Amino acid sequence: MTPLIEARDLVRIYHVRRGLFGHPTPVRAVDGISLAVMAGETLGIVGESGSGKSTLGRMLLGIDAAQEGEVVFDGKAMPAGATPEWRKLRAKMQLVYQDPLAALDRRLTIATQMAEPLEIHRLIPKEHRAARVAELMSAVGLRPDQATRFPHELSGGQRQRVVIARAIASRPKLLVCDEPVSALDVSIQAQIINMLRDLQQQHSIAMVFISHDLKVVRNIADRVAVMYLGRVVEEASSDVIFRSPMHPYTRALVSSVPRPGSPLQGRVILQGEPPNPANRPSGCAFHPRCPLARDLCRTAAPQLKDIGDGRTVACHVTAGDDAQIAA
Ligand code: SF4
Ligand code: MG
Repeated sequence: MTPLIEARDLVRIYHVRRGLFGHPTPVRAVDGISLAVMAGETLGIVGESGSGKSTLGRMLLGIDAAQEGEVVFDGKAMPAGATPEWRKLRAKMQLVYQDPLAALDRRLTIATQMAEPLEIHRLIPKEHRAARVAELMSAVGLRPDQATRFPHELSGGQRQRVVIARAIASRPKLLVCDEPVSALDVSIQAQIINMLRDLQQQHSIAMVFISHDLKVVRNIADRVAVMYLGRVVEEASSDVIFRSPMHPYTRALVSSVPRPGSPLQGRVILQGEPPNPANRPSGCAFHPRCPLARDLCRTAAPQLKDIGDGRTVACHVTAGDDAQIAA
């Protein structure tokens, strides 16, 4: 099967100036990422802030251009620049991000904002738009009387529902959700996640779900890619990642997620500095924080290796010849 969307060796470099008079230094925010998402599938992307998750999400949508590599959507390479062809493909993918207030216009009613994508993409004749808006409102669990409200009259959770309704209005094949529930109360988070999952199944939308929060990702992702300083360090099905994480970084992340009904066991506390893309350690970038690091890790960067159970891992030790000893 051909993937719906495929990233091939994507690279995105920023130039960061150190201090007022420092020379701009290139920072590889996304450093050679390849991944694929099948139609209707949810790929979770996890990692701490600074790992390049959001940049990757924007690159998939063509909002941030790739300096190297390419994005292939529905079998077509995404053209660089806002050509009519790009716009046509772009309408098939939508972004939902953390702050619904920033995504909405304070001066317009909910109904008006939901009708906007229908108008822009000329999806349905004018006379049917009101009916489609009503349908979208109900699909995301909003009441009909909320159509005439303004964003500030709704709760955070309700606003995110509006944003999601707008995103699905154009019947996209792909949703990129970047920390869509991070700003919400935990009780509301579950509601929004369940709703996203239902919508996704009903309309067989593929989803890239970006989050620093593994608890949330576990509830929605079919597969998980773990990022560290611009690279994927482990990728596998959600089951495999949560049952038997292999990369020491994944192990630490997974160990901090409580299992339902049982207290935290064997929690690995990560030592050292969180990842800073402007200051990438040599060799394996995780080595200053890794409990298994050895000399080789300081000099040689491990490559992603397919280890057989539908999993790829980049680690000299856990995916290397001495995997048995390390496990
Ligand atoms: Fe740790 Fe070395 Fe594996 Fe990197 S390559 S994760 S430093 S053991
Ligand atoms: Mg981010």
